[in-house]
Amino acid sequence: MARLDLHLHSTCSDGRHAPAWVIRQAAAHGAELVALSDHDTLAGVEEAREAGEALGVTVVAAVEISVIHEPLGELHVLGYLPARDELDDLELKLAEYRDERLGRARRTLNLLRDLGAPIEEDAVMRHADGGVIGRPHIARALVDAGHVESVQEAFDRYLHNGGPAFVQRSVLSMEESIELIHDSGGFASLAHPTRYRETETSIESFAAAGGDAIEIYYRNDPPDVIANGERLANRLGLAATGGSDFHGIHPDEMPPATVPIPDYAAHRLIDLMKDLAS
Ligand code: AMP
Ligand code: MN
Ligand code: MN
Ligand code: MN
Repeated sequence: MARLDLHLHSTCSDGRHAPAWVIRQAAAHGAELVALSDHDTLAGVEEAREAGEALGVTVVAAVEISVIHEPLGELHVLGYLPARDELDDLELKLAEYRDERLGRARRTLNLLRDLGAPIEEDAVMRHADGGVIGRPHIARALVDAGHVESVQEAFDRYLHNGGPAFVQRSVLSMEESIELIHDSGGFASLAHPTRYRETETSIESFAAAGGDAIEIYYRNDPPDVIANGERLANRLGLAATGGSDFHGIHPDEMPPATVPIPDYAAHRLIDLMKDLAS
């Protein structure tokens, strides 16, 4: 089993730890190649690269973009990207989404107030600490205010997709996100397809939309689920990616670079990532 992790979050979006900290953890678990994949930002990549260089870990620039698909709802697309100076268009588009997240957070706080769980905007901002604002920051503020016991309870009661305090952001379509990633010279992987209501349909739609890969080695998904993902990927001509989706928020998360990725998949991934860098 090779030690890769192509799905990691930091304080630059909704992770609890700084980019360098995350890379040090990955290195401590023997990682040779990782991708920092914050929501809607590449802001942490430089710090992660510097940390990686000192530790002998290759760090790939990545981003996780939320997309809307009718009728499947919200899906996430991971973009793996070449060197940063080619990414101006992508950065501009991502900046639009970051701005929009603030307005959306305010609408969420209004809903929470009406639901009897008021929290201050400042409390959310303190958790975001300059990073991309997301629902996990609101969840943490709900815990602080004593409205819920845990981040998970905040999602289960209020913030889950379609929940009473959920506000849909206006986001790209699947096709648009793939095009944006391709135009930036990157390749696109459908994040955690096993977490969607219709796993197989979402993967088929992603392939039809021009996507390149699916995230098959996700967290501790069991062997039969992984085998099924590999079969689907083969049938549709998609590559396989994998990672922990580490945020450092929930007590039961797998640490960076601890998801078992079989050697045959890892070798292909390392080749794919090296092509990006060259
Ligand atoms: P946002 O980008 O603001 O829509 O927030 C999405 C993030 O919230 C995801 O990347 C996860 O970190 C977290 N999340 C979404 N749904 C859930 C859920 N049902 N339980 C726990 N965390 C969730
Ligand atoms: Mn997240
Ligand atoms: Mn996701
Ligand atoms: Mn993620």
